[in-house]
Amino acid sequence: MSAQPPGLAQSLSRVVGGKTATALEKAFGMTTVDDLLRHYPRRYAERGTLTELATLEEGASVTILADIEQVTVRPMQQRRGTILEALVTDGQGRLSLTFFNQKWRERELRPGRRGLFAGQISSFRGKRQLAHPQCLLLPDGVDDDPEAIAAFAGALIPVYSATSTVTSWQIAGAIRVILDTLGDLPDPIPDQVRQAEGIIGLASALTQIHRPANDLELSQAQDRLRFEEAFVLQVVLAQRRAEMALMPATARVVSGGPLQRSFDEDLPFTLTRGQVEVGEEIAGDLAASHPMHRLVQGDVGSGKTIVALRAMLGVVDAGGQAALLAPTEVLAVQHHRTITAMLGPLAQAGMLGGDANGTKVALLTGSQRTATRRRELLDVISGDAGIVVGTHALIQDTVEFRDLGLVVIDEQHRFGVEQRAALAAKARGGMRPHVLVMTATPIPRTVAMTVFGDLDVSTLRELPAGRSPVATHVVPVREQPALVGRAWARVREEVEAGHRVFVVCPRIGDDESAPPGDGSVAPDGGSAGEEPPTASVLSVADKLASGELAGLRVGVLHGRMTGEEKDNAMRRFASETGSERIEVLVATTVIEVGVDVPAATAMVIIDADRFGISQLHQLRGRVGRGNHPSLCLLLTEMPKGSPARMRLDAVAATTDGFELAQLDLQLRREGDVLGSSQSGERSSLRLLEVVRDEDVIVRARAAALAIVATDPSLASAPGLLSAIHALVPDEQADFMEKA
Ligand code: ADP
Ligand code: MG
Repeated sequence: MSAQPPGLAQSLSRVVGGKTATALEKAFGMTTVDDLLRHYPRRYAERGTLTELATLEEGASVTILADIEQVTVRPMQQRRGTILEALVTDGQGRLSLTFFNQKWRERELRPGRRGLFAGQISSFRGKRQLAHPQCLLLPDGVDDDPEAIAAFAGALIPVYSATSTVTSWQIAGAIRVILDTLGDLPDPIPDQVRQAEGIIGLASALTQIHRPANDLELSQAQDRLRFEEAFVLQVVLAQRRAEMALMPATARVVSGGPLQRSFDEDLPFTLTRGQVEVGEEIAGDLAASHPMHRLVQGDVGSGKTIVALRAMLGVVDAGGQAALLAPTEVLAVQHHRTITAMLGPLAQAGMLGGDANGTKVALLTGSQRTATRRRELLDVISGDAGIVVGTHALIQDTVEFRDLGLVVIDEQHRFGVEQRAALAAKARGGMRPHVLVMTATPIPRTVAMTVFGDLDVSTLRELPAGRSPVATHVVPVREQPALVGRAWARVREEVEAGHRVFVVCPRIGDDESAPPGDGSVAPDGGSAGEEPPTASVLSVADKLASGELAGLRVGVLHGRMTGEEKDNAMRRFASETGSERIEVLVATTVIEVGVDVPAATAMVIIDADRFGISQLHQLRGRVGRGNHPSLCLLLTEMPKGSPARMRLDAVAATTDGFELAQLDLQLRREGDVLGSSQSGERSSLRLLEVVRDEDVIVRARAAALAIVATDPSLASAPGLLSAIHALVPDEQADFMEKA
């Protein structure tokens, strides 16, 4: 499968023995030498800093060398489970190591064994202890003979993440066997790049990261391997870019056509400078005979929809069709409604009162009635519909276009690389459609380069003039319960002034066991575990309607409603004024992206601590879209000073989405940043941190673009080619090669 060079591609069972290989595969999914060598130490214990037990102070981070004296296992008193306590000594002092629910350790922590134990000293009932220390037991027969310890551990002792079946020591042992026989390895980083960067070769780096003689060797190894991660990923992206740039697309000269011109003339406002500039960038791309792949990012409310719509109108002017893909049906329906309304007579081609330059806007959703869908499909095939709005499923369906020139993808975060590749199937006569991707929120620069590195990026920096920022306040439910009453009173005032109000809850109803499929539960880390149930849409709506908001018209919106029900609720909330109207909409995060109801002036988010920073900012962006001053209240039970509360304070303190995106990134773990977008690709980032390593990413990107420009097939860099094959699953690699 993978085209690794012989040494690295070798099966582990042939090198470290069947038993160890099986254990490593079970525990970590490792099958090759490469897999094992890329299991870098989690940390290093410095032997020089070994501490004597008698001198340990509470709170200190220590590594100690000690003998196990006695081990006991007993049930816990307050909870279910067991406590394992190992008493260790260095001959001077004593210390207890405690482990909860890790009875299996009894097998290895046997009295008489000696080991290294690392952790932070705490105290329990006046006794100093190490709770859940990292353990590295010395192999039998190795005593305190420093040379023997050094031989097995080096000066910096590697500590690997281990499991109940494979210990850190076993991993170190297996790696040592391999390193001892490691020859020269083909290097994914070509010589000239390595020289320019002043970094060491692969074989040395792997040796030095597992067995560093000193700090310098370690940092050389880390620098090199970190650069490699960034570089290989950037080469994949650069290749993807280069390949897309070679594909054929129909050039569409879009400026100044009748449809776009009429639209611009009828706009009730002037475009922002950013909207004009980005519009010109897009027009330039569309006029080329290779497909555009551009990402437009901007803060919530910066007017991305208009930018996309103008591009679509331009393509229709030039004789083609444009498809707009939304992540959910609610959004597809809403885009259709907004676009139709914004276009007015321009969207009524062939109808009475329709504009002579006009077109039709078709809508395709999964829950449409067959007859309706058939009618819409006919408009798409015939080309009568210049603009087609649907969910992402549209590109997987067998929908045929007469001449699809542009695909606009709304809210990229839920749209993967594979799906972008599937667009090829929509092409006619080998032509690719141009692709414009719109993000919901601003993306920090390093994320844009890493996750969307194969796209060109345009940024809308300013908001339209005259926006008043949404006043945001944290309402601490426990500390100031009276404020909650005030919050609902404010909601009532807004409704009485003729406005609309959103109430957002983390869950749908009280009866669900698993999270609903609409992404409505998305805490950004840290809130797993036993916590009281959060507010749910159904119970909150009931409670409000019969309590604080009695007399107001309260409706609900959530992911378990049918498409028709959701559409109905949105319509009653957005535009209905009669007795059908909904004044307060209690919803899950279905409303998170894109929903545009200018009359909505207030939002109350219950259990706001359950949402991430970017998500809160996105939610808040649903209000303040008209000319009225707007309000967002973040209700939380979290105590002052807690991390969750500080996140909420940050959201209340600024409305700058770029600032919040950066902060969000810093608080998230890497996996969350890259996870969904890198889906399908084995996560290749071990040392590289997108938050911290901006300079590495920038340099790696420049080097990657340069090498792909001079040698697109990478024929001169076999080591690099192998690394790419190992990184990108075969199917996708095939796609890349075919293209
Ligand atoms: P987002 O970038 O969040 O998708 P939208 O495109 O939905 O933002 O625009 C938000 C609101 O601002 C819409 O009601 C839209 O009509 C309005 N808008 C867009 N551009 C301008 C502008 N240049 N001046 C005033 N209002 C604008
Ligand atoms: Mg939008």
